[in-house]
Amino acid sequence: MLSALSRLFRRRNPHQLELGFHDVPNNGAELLARLRQLGMGNAIEQLRLTRNRMVMVSFSGHELRIHEGYLRAPEPVLRAVVAFVRSRSRADRAAARAQIVTFQVDRPQSSRRRLPRTVAADESMAEELRGWHKAYNDGYFAGTLRTVAIRVSRRMKTRLGHYTARSSAGDPAEIAISRSHIQRHGWEEACHTLLHEMVHQWQDEQGHSIDHGSTFRSKAREVGITPLARRAVVPAKQRGSAPRKPAPLTIGLRAAREE
Ligand SMILES: [Zn+2]
Repeated sequence: MLSALSRLFRRRNPHQLELGFHDVPNNGAELLARLRQLGMGNAIEQLRLTRNRMVMVSFSGHELRIHEGYLRAPEPVLRAVVAFVRSRSRADRAAARAQIVTFQVDRPQSSRRRLPRTVAADESMAEELRGWHKAYNDGYFAGTLRTVAIRVSRRMKTRLGHYTARSSAGDPAEIAISRSHIQRHGWEEACHTLLHEMVHQWQDEQGHSIDHGSTFRSKAREVGITPLARRAVVPAKQRGSAPRKPAPLTIGLRAAREE
């Protein structure tokens, strides 16, 4: 009764509403209500909490996905989520992102993933990729990219490769390339994927979001690769005519190239 009354009161009195901000939302619906209190408006109709460590915030259409750790995010971070959703310019989004990533989702030490490793028999492939990484770094990025862990994966089947940023738990950044991709499509394609992942590495190291948005596309064109998340199997002219669903705006640790 008292809480119902105070909720009613909060809604009517903006100062009381500020006090209500100390309550930690318990679930997606409460977090959505909090974000609306902070000015998000009604454009987002559904908020889904995720446990995907690689994604912090992502929205597309009327749905917002957000890592459950953000239930405990402080108000300035939640305000940045609102700003991210409402932003209309790249600069606004970048500023919001910078604020959002300051909040690190805690992860108990015991749940730290054991880092996958390249199978010994594939080590020569990984070594070849490391050589290309160095050559491309010198050729396209003026040698500015950091040396990064490069791994060949036997698990990745539909994904061709991915870049994963350093995690807050201290796992290092890495590029993984699918072994079956190298075997099925050959080195030229695999190197295209490597360069694609290097553009994500560049985004990360420059403080951009790791995604396939406009910074990705312009840098991809600059280094001469297809500015797409997927492997191009359709001629460019046909591709241009098909209506494309807008990609979700995502703040996350990983981007993958898929078939
Ligand atoms: Zn990508």
